[in-house]
Amino acid sequence: MGAYQDFHQRSLKQRDAFWNEQAALIDWHQPHTQVCDFSRPPFAQWFVGGQTNLCYNAIDRHLVTRGDQKALIYISTETGQEKTYTYRELYKEVNRAAGMLHTLGVVKGDRVLIYMPMIAEAVFVMLACARVGAIHSVVFGGFAAASLATRIDDAKPALMITADAGMRGGRAIAYKPLVDEALRLAQHPPRNVIVVNRGIDKDYTPVVGRDLDYATLRKSHAEVNTPVTWLESSEPSYILYTSGTTGKPKGIQRDTGGYAVALAASMKHIYCGNAGETMFTTSDIGWVVGHSYIVYAPLIAGMTTILYEGLPIRPDAGIWWKIVADHKVSVMFSSPTAARVLKKQDPAYLTKYDLSSLRHLFLAGEPLDEPTHQWISDALQKPVIDHYWQTETGWPILSAVHGVEKTPLKMGTPSFPVYGYDLQILRESDASEAAADEKGVVAIMPPLPPGCMSTVWGDDERFVKTYFTSFRSKQVYATFDWGIRDKDGYHYILGRTDDVINVAGHRLGTREIEEAVQSHANIAEVAVVGVADAIKGQIPIAFAVVKDSSQIATREQQAAHEKEVMDAVDKQLGAIGRPARVHFVNLLPKTRSGKLLRRSIQALAEGRDPGDLTTIEDPAALEQIKVALAGG
Ligand code: AMP
Repeated sequence: MGAYQDFHQRSLKQRDAFWNEQAALIDWHQPHTQVCDFSRPPFAQWFVGGQTNLCYNAIDRHLVTRGDQKALIYISTETGQEKTYTYRELYKEVNRAAGMLHTLGVVKGDRVLIYMPMIAEAVFVMLACARVGAIHSVVFGGFAAASLATRIDDAKPALMITADAGMRGGRAIAYKPLVDEALRLAQHPPRNVIVVNRGIDKDYTPVVGRDLDYATLRKSHAEVNTPVTWLESSEPSYILYTSGTTGKPKGIQRDTGGYAVALAASMKHIYCGNAGETMFTTSDIGWVVGHSYIVYAPLIAGMTTILYEGLPIRPDAGIWWKIVADHKVSVMFSSPTAARVLKKQDPAYLTKYDLSSLRHLFLAGEPLDEPTHQWISDALQKPVIDHYWQTETGWPILSAVHGVEKTPLKMGTPSFPVYGYDLQILRESDASEAAADEKGVVAIMPPLPPGCMSTVWGDDERFVKTYFTSFRSKQVYATFDWGIRDKDGYHYILGRTDDVINVAGHRLGTREIEEAVQSHANIAEVAVVGVADAIKGQIPIAFAVVKDSSQIATREQQAAHEKEVMDAVDKQLGAIGRPARVHFVNLLPKTRSGKLLRRSIQALAEGRDPGDLTTIEDPAALEQIKVALAGG
């Protein structure tokens, strides 16, 4: 992999020249005077003195050449709606929304909290914030009122924007009552709330004097043109809250110029998405993947982006592939969980539609197990690129970079450090570099490249303390993930350093055990947690979902299956990793973004309260864990 290696090396050794070239991928109102200011480590400022605007780069600059091209396609299998906006139409909608912000007194630097379902207006208001230099904070619709209130109090928004309701699996999910409750709990409620009334929640009642109707405001701003507010490159574009090891969510703060450049470069080198083509990212605007690869990056690149409201298996498991065929999607981005969900469906859905337009499927957000990676690659007959990143980085850290070189893909690995990232696998004991095939902490030598978080909102100290103090001898950014680099330079992520378990003095990643459990042919999904044990400190317990439940119909069969799985772990990883019990369940507790709620499972297994469950996808999953633990 000579070409990519050279590219990566150059991005580090000739950092400024490299990023100077990438900066030309976006439009600047004023050019920068310095590529990187790293005079106050670990804080980095990119493209110092440059002035730009995310909305301008996502919309305005395309108007002359692609005004009539589709910019946004909104598809809802929940309401049966499909709506297309050209770049010119998107420009109009965003100008109207930006006009509303101005009318309501929102100015540069103000925060606007967006709590919305996957509807086109959510994209309009995000871009409108960017246009006027307001800092949006999109909170995922699944968060409950108390969590929303915490975020309101941290961001202190000047305005909130919401909708009457969302829909999921055909069921209405009220949003506004949650906002009402959150505003009752919050210490710093904004004066106004704009509500997109979709007519879903029949009980919707606006609070007089506070709640404003989006459609009415839109009408009164129909012909408004709102000029772009130019921002210095390091001025914040948005805050996105993420959870860590403490209860208080961290507001990940992103800059403007560095982010725009990082996204534009990633579309070229990693996603290989070209202007005029279509990208379909199945995430939610409430998550970082939604920010970067539903909204900003495809539009900055002049592509058409698809905003999908619905489930992957409704009306049937072919819906995503139908969308790919209907809209000639070139680049698709989804999650390993989704791939595993599809794996349990009829494989005929994957061959039913014409997928000839699709070049790549990208998966990220959680570990992609080797069997699933293999399965979906075989089923699609397309390169499936596992890539690894975090809310903090905003774009990939590890990936194949096929725009530079078509390096072979290995199953179960997100390939190589992406250009710009000086990534090292460090020994936990002394921060020295681990050898090939030796497990260590995935760390990034600062400065973090453009696009990564610039700080924690309102708390520089927390930024330094949380991310840069894992090692006493070196100020490096800790990802809190375990990783391994093999002899060929491919990297494997083995789970969070903060989810490690310790069995009789041996440190194990729950992820490693899960991989081993999944080597059993009948396991679709599994969660392994460390449970307190009087003798060994901790023991691993597995909760597994089987593919074919007829194999575990009787208690005898279950016991035999449990033994088989344990043997598989012995074989794959060694007896040290063998789960003390393997419980079979029908589904696992997960957040709506597909992350396993390991801590909640662990708490239940240890007889404790499962803790914060505001993001849980389906509470029935926890009941199953309880029943399994009770021997049911
Ligand atoms: P989030 O910030 O919520 O996206 O979570 C980031 C975390 O998800 C990372 O620190 C990893 O633990 C995990 N993660 C994301 N992508 C991958 C991947 N491709 N492989 C393994 N783990 C991943």
